[in-house]
This record gives sequence, C-alpha cells and structure tokens, in this order.
Amino acid sequence: MVADNAADSTREANKTNDILSSTRTVIKNALEKLGYPDEVFELLKDPVRMMTVRIPVRMDDGSVKVFTGYRAQHNDAVGPTKGGVRFHPNVTEKEVKALAIWMSLKAGIVDLPYGGGKGGIICDPREMSFRELEGLSRGYVRAISQIVGPTKDIPAPDVFTNSQIMAWMMDEYSRIDEFNNPGFITGKPIVLGGSHGRESATAKGVTIVLNEAAKKRGLDVKGARVVVQGFGNAGSFLSKFLHDAGAKIVGISDAYGALHDPEGLDIDYLLDRRDSFGTVTKLFNNTITNKELLELDCDILVPAAVENQITEENAHNIKADIIVEAANGPTTMEGTKILTERGKLLVPDVLASSGGVTVSYFEWVQNNQGYYWSEKEIDDKLHEIMIKAFDTIYNTSQTRRIDMRLAAYMVGVRKVAEASRFRGWV
Ligand code: GLU
Repeated sequence: MVADNAADSTREANKTNDILSSTRTVIKNALEKLGYPDEVFELLKDPVRMMTVRIPVRMDDGSVKVFTGYRAQHNDAVGPTKGGVRFHPNVTEKEVKALAIWMSLKAGIVDLPYGGGKGGIICDPREMSFRELEGLSRGYVRAISQIVGPTKDIPAPDVFTNSQIMAWMMDEYSRIDEFNNPGFITGKPIVLGGSHGRESATAKGVTIVLNEAAKKRGLDVKGARVVVQGFGNAGSFLSKFLHDAGAKIVGISDAYGALHDPEGLDIDYLLDRRDSFGTVTKLFNNTITNKELLELDCDILVPAAVENQITEENAHNIKADIIVEAANGPTTMEGTKILTERGKLLVPDVLASSGGVTVSYFEWVQNNQGYYWSEKEIDDKLHEIMIKAFDTIYNTSQTRRIDMRLAAYMVGVRKVAEASRFRGWV
C-alpha cells in the first residue's frame, strides 16, 4: 500500500512536471517566433509570485485537519492577476503554476486587462460536508488575503468549486476588508453581484469556437456525432447546448466511467440525474472506460475533464476530425504533434476555454460600475470576442503553417510580453 502510494505520487509529480515544462517549451517557441529576446522567456517561464498556505479546518467529527493550498500569480504587468481556485486531491504546486501561466495566455487571447493567476487546495470535496467546505473556503481566503483583492488578484471557480464557494469566499474577504467587496471574486450567485451567463460561460465559449471549427471543416454541427469527456460545469452545459443545436452526443463520461450510445444519449435525462460534481455513470451498468470513450467513432471530441488525456499512447487512435479542448491541458505535447500530423483540427484549451474568464471579466466590470447587464448583452459581447479570437488564431496558424496551439500561444503571450517591456522589466 505504501509502495503504491509512493509510486502514485511519483507518477503524479512526473505528470504535472510535464505540464509545466511543456507549457514553457511552447511559450519559448512562441516568443522566439515573435522575436523576443531570451530574457522575456526567463521572466515568463514562472509565476512572479507563489504562495503556499496551510489551512486548519475543524471537521464534523471534532478533529482538526490541516489542508495545503496555493495561489500563483503569473505576471501582473497588464493588470491584476485573474484565475480560478480548484479543490482536488491531485492539486500540486507545479500544476497551479502551469494553470496560472495558461490564464495569462487566455487573458491575452481574449484581450482582457488581466494577467494570469490560479489557486488550488489539495482536498476531496466529494468527501466533505457543506460545513467543512465552508470552513476550508473561508480559511483559504484568510490565508491568502494579503496578496488578493479586486485590484490585485481576482479568484473564480474552477474544478469542483462553484458559486456557493465563491459566495463564502466573497463574504470572508468582505469581513476582512470591512466593506462589501463583490469585485474581489467572480462566479458569484446573481444575488451577490454575479453576472448573467457566468455559470454557462465556459461551455458557451467552447460552443462558439466549435461551430467555427466545424465551418472550417465543412461539417454541420446539426447531426454531427460528438463525444464529451467530463460532465462537470463545462461538459454538462456543453452537452446541453450541442444537443439543443441538433448534434448527437454519442458519448459522455465522469470520473468513474463513460456512457456510449451511437444513436445519441438522452442528455436531458442525464443532466437531471447528475450530482453536483457531475457524477452520473454510477447509475448505469453498461459503462465503458474513459480510454474507450476517447477512441469512439465520432466527428468532434471535446475533452472537458482533466489534464493529460490525449497522449502519445492514444493520439493515433483518436477518430474525431475536430478536437476542441474545453479542459485545461487535456492534450500533451506529443499528443498535439501526433494529432497535427494526422491532419486533425485541434482547437487549444487557452482559446476554447477562455469564455469563462471573459464573462468573469464582465462580472468584475459590472461590480466596479455597479450597473448590471442583461443576459443578451453578455451573450452578444462574448460571441464577438470569441469569434475574433478564433479567427485571429486560425489565420495565424494558416499563414505561419503552425498548429493552433502554437498560434494561440503567440497571440496570448504578446500582450504580457509587451506590457512587461513597456514597464521596463525586460
Ligand atoms: N477557472 C476558469 C479557467 O480556467 C475561469 C477563471 C476565471 O473566471 O477567472 O479559465
């Protein structure tokens, strides 16, 4: 058992190590192509600030459990840093660093006045009570309160965190700050200054770029066969949007297994039965594995779960023509290379999943001005931004003859590199 755990943690370390080092490699390539000197890479290869915190929480059985959490701030040359907080047992320091860098790229791609940030706590919220989660959320904010704030670093939801957790965090920060401060965090409930459309924003952004990618390949989304890996916030809303648009969702999955029906799954039924963590496959006997799911015969594959799903081991077997990354980091560098060589159209995470932070920005703007927009206004603004970002990156990839990931990194890194240069940092 001990040996297994040790092997697991080594594997985990290698895995997250890969995420950070592969991110650095692509950033280096992008900066070189843009003509920046090496010192710009030296600045951008790591977050400028990284805080590790220990959070004591009184558990329901009376004992105290101490959790480890992180907050990474990649670069604040453009503006305050921005990015979600994930609650997950596999969170590591390196993963949080890579995720913070990706947030800088997303902000650059959709042209927001932010740098990238990210937080994470090593915990399993599926095994914690509501009261324990509240204690952990409030404890985290107390621990990081000195380095965050509406003009410093603005957290948001990510894997296994939601609007209730944002509400507790906002309340805790407002108590520390001694006045109501909704702009400290985004992804809040509407009654606490949240924005219309924030909950479904990541999925909406993915849907917009997926439609554009389908057009490029002459594929009609109506009737297209789609596989969605993951049934959390992004995966569930996305399945619903595509199902309503007439696509056939032939496969979905959660952390425990996957469902497949070549005739199309009953998405409304599955949405109704899923729990708040996106678990639904436990209710079925006829499940397939996540590995089988990724290799299903389909037109479009959307990884919307966790990192490192498409690798050198399975990239040769992916049948979808279009892969749209709704999750952060689902395809490794080797996986990207193989898919590109096979002529697949891969829409990278830093573009595809940037709808979430875009509507978070709208939420923060509304909080700052104290005047709120309708859902239609949000939708229209998001649509315009996502289409522009897709076109810029697609055209860059075509004219430079590079894959869309490198093109997205080039577009994404330029703003933070320029801002750092103008400030005289490099
Ligand atoms: N966690 C989301 C992401 O990875 C959203 C971040 C935000 O809204 O600030 O893009």
